[in-house]
Amino acid sequence: MMIVMKPGATNEDIESVVERIESCGARAHLSRGDEVTVIGAIGDREHVQRLGLEGHAGVQQVVPILRPYKLSSNQFKSGERSVIEIDGRRIGGEHFSMIAGPCTVESRDQVLTTADAVAAAGASMFRGGAYKPRSSPYSFQGLGQEGLHLLAEAKERTGLPIVTELMDARDVEPILEVADVIQVGARNMQNYPLLAEIGRTGRPVLIKRGLSSTLEELLMAAEYVLKEGNPNVMLCERGIRTFETAYRFTLDIMAIPMLKELSHLPVIVDPSHAPGRRDMVLPLSLAAAAAGADGIIVEVHPDPEQAICDGPQQIYADDFAAYLEQVERAAAVAGKVLSAAA
Ligand code: PEP
Ligand code: MN
Repeated sequence: MMIVMKPGATNEDIESVVERIESCGARAHLSRGDEVTVIGAIGDREHVQRLGLEGHAGVQQVVPILRPYKLSSNQFKSGERSVIEIDGRRIGGEHFSMIAGPCTVESRDQVLTTADAVAAAGASMFRGGAYKPRSSPYSFQGLGQEGLHLLAEAKERTGLPIVTELMDARDVEPILEVADVIQVGARNMQNYPLLAEIGRTGRPVLIKRGLSSTLEELLMAAEYVLKEGNPNVMLCERGIRTFETAYRFTLDIMAIPMLKELSHLPVIVDPSHAPGRRDMVLPLSLAAAAAGADGIIVEVHPDPEQAICDGPQQIYADDFAAYLEQVERAAAVAGKVLSAAA
């Protein structure tokens, strides 16, 4: 923490702040400028925060200098990047991952047709929601357990690891039987008991950025999982709410290099949910891959016109191979190679 003193602060004010800092076991580092004095408090941030120095005589401002997240911070690994291994596929470092599949599991035919198509094209993992977070309680909520069984069948048949969403901690056991990666949806990014529960499972997790969340809030969400001893966390940019109304969400491409500066965790991009339109999925995927994303999670459907949810944004299963080829080229620009089965 940095304590900025008011220009008119007296020596007694300064000495008294130093004493308070030292009283909680922290060290005070004094820097006297021509106009203001700044006191650095070096020690446990929480102890210093509890002193309530904001209200102390002569204090203008208390500024935190250490980031509130530790385990997800780049400083924690001294610049080394985390590489997560899932059934022979690597995510992070120079490895690029393509996670593809339908928004939601609708039927056996739909799931298996999509899984076959993305597996044949060389996808790294298969996605599909059995439990769906829908804006309306009257919309289709997912097939639940039946959907999980279909995902298990797709995995058995193609060998692709499964990425599927956990919405409610009460469903953790059936999800663990199928999910190689647990997806935390944007709307659950700040569901802290859910994050802690996933942390305790140790299972790899992909955390989607909340609709209105800052990068710091996303990293704090990751911190909840990491704190429980689960190091296998991926961050996912999926578009945020802005003043722009021409599209559903604004895909924050800048989040990719910024998250990589702040954190050692892999960064995945979802190019489907921000535009909500199929024709923008390729350009956004190319931008994300070229900007250094560690992977893409994209929605694919064999017959999007008939899809129960997110039809307009799902790319055709028949077009997936050509799509992946182009994305691979963009990933190569950023020095990354597609990671498929070992
Ligand atoms: C999804 O991946 O289908 C989904 C609902 O995503 P988000 O949580 O980002 O809206
Ligand atoms: Mn969707």
